[in-house]
Amino acid sequence: MSSLNPDYLIIGAGIVGLTIAYELKRHFPDASITVIEKETQPGLHGSGRNSGVLHAGFYYTADSLKAKLCRDGNIAWRQYCIENNLTLNQCGKLVVARSDEEVKGLEELYRRGQVNGVQLEMISADAAVEIEPNVFTHQKALWSPNTATVNPVEVVSSIQNKIIEQGVEIKNASAYLSRSGDTVITSNGEYTPGYVINAAGLYADKIAKDYGFSADYKILPFKGLYLYANESGIKLKTNVYPVPNLRNPFLGVHFTVTAENKTKIGPTAIPAFWRENYIGLDKFNFKELIGIIGIDAGLFFTNSFGFRALAFEEIQKYSRKKLIDLAGSLLKEIRYEDFTQWGKPGIRAQLINTKSKSLEMDFKFEGDGKSFHVLNAVSPAFTCALPFSQLLVSEINRHIS
Ligand SMILES: Cc1cc2nc3c(=O)[nH]c(=O)nc-3n(C[C@H](O)[C@H](O)[C@H](O)COP(=O)(O)OP(=O)(O)OC[C@H]3O[C@@H](n4cnc5c(N)ncnc54)[C@H](O)[C@@H]3O)c2cc1C
Repeated sequence: MSSLNPDYLIIGAGIVGLTIAYELKRHFPDASITVIEKETQPGLHGSGRNSGVLHAGFYYTADSLKAKLCRDGNIAWRQYCIENNLTLNQCGKLVVARSDEEVKGLEELYRRGQVNGVQLEMISADAAVEIEPNVFTHQKALWSPNTATVNPVEVVSSIQNKIIEQGVEIKNASAYLSRSGDTVITSNGEYTPGYVINAAGLYADKIAKDYGFSADYKILPFKGLYLYANESGIKLKTNVYPVPNLRNPFLGVHFTVTAENKTKIGPTAIPAFWRENYIGLDKFNFKELIGIIGIDAGLFFTNSFGFRALAFEEIQKYSRKKLIDLAGSLLKEIRYEDFTQWGKPGIRAQLINTKSKSLEMDFKFEGDGKSFHVLNAVSPAFTCALPFSQLLVSEINRHIS
């Protein structure tokens, strides 16, 4: 088969598209697989712009896909990084409380972790200080020894090299534009594949609609900003997180210790105005702006999932001082002058159900015998990617057979 008629055509070379190719090759070594990517290289969006945290799997309820896939993905990536000599910082995570109410939140997270079989310890404030001397917590803290950090760009590049070695073709600078029957029209030629897999991140809903899917969904972008500690500034020993608001899928402003041992604050979850609204007017898209303002205005009016408070709170985080103040409540001491460098922002492709006006909290995918669409690969989809792709490939096989 020529590369213009591959057995599988995957749209999007983020971690989800690449690991689907990896998993397909494991099942079908002889299958021809092409991945088309609109950018000049893989991983330039969410997969290369995230916190790099391998979450352990205690935030999510046991009935969710996220819970099990996160637990298994954490183990799988740690093993992968060790086997492939990739940077891995097994520095763990403390979740801290700031009030009696938040201690109840810690207990709920502990309970969820127990149900999901995740290794966790509820520890005293003194024991938390032994792990990270600068941490401040009210009465108790949750210690997750298996939370770790990786360099996401390095991981993407490793998987990319592996699948290329296995014969997968990655066509960069090839944007999906439209379809005509079974033919996929791209900015760099036409394909008539046996099966289409859409893993296009921020644009997955639009492509899915071309195939008759994603009828009730739209992607709403949320911007994640990061503030880095200066070289001579604070260096935490572990990741430090607050108790999150479990009504929305974001984890609250926290401290991450990167794979390279740098300390950073973030990410925010600020409503963005177009899908790739990273900095200033870069990649400005008027049509997207109008559509997104319409959805945001509707959510603001109905105040679904506390959107009004979320939007007000998040917008303030454009202020460096505000962001440092918020993160500072997790520590005994923080100095503004330690945090002056903004990092590379990322944008979350969060799916919203346009009928129920609610955020989809779990992974979502739809498909049939011709095409398959990954619609809500939200955090922690990076952590989950290896077992998530196993699940997706078995779903795809189910549709085909
Ligand atoms: C700020 C932030 C922090 C996060 N932190 C974490 C974390 O610590 N741990 C964790 O597990 N997860 C985290 N996540 C989530 C994680 O990064 C994402 O869930 C994951 O990267 C999604 O991968 P993806 O492959 O679906 O999407 P993407 O990485 O966005 O890949 C989609 C690809 O499709 C391409 N594409 C789009 N449209 C087209 C088209 N028309 N034609 C061809 N190609 C197209 C894009 O260019 C892109 O390369 C975070 C996300 C963000 C934004």
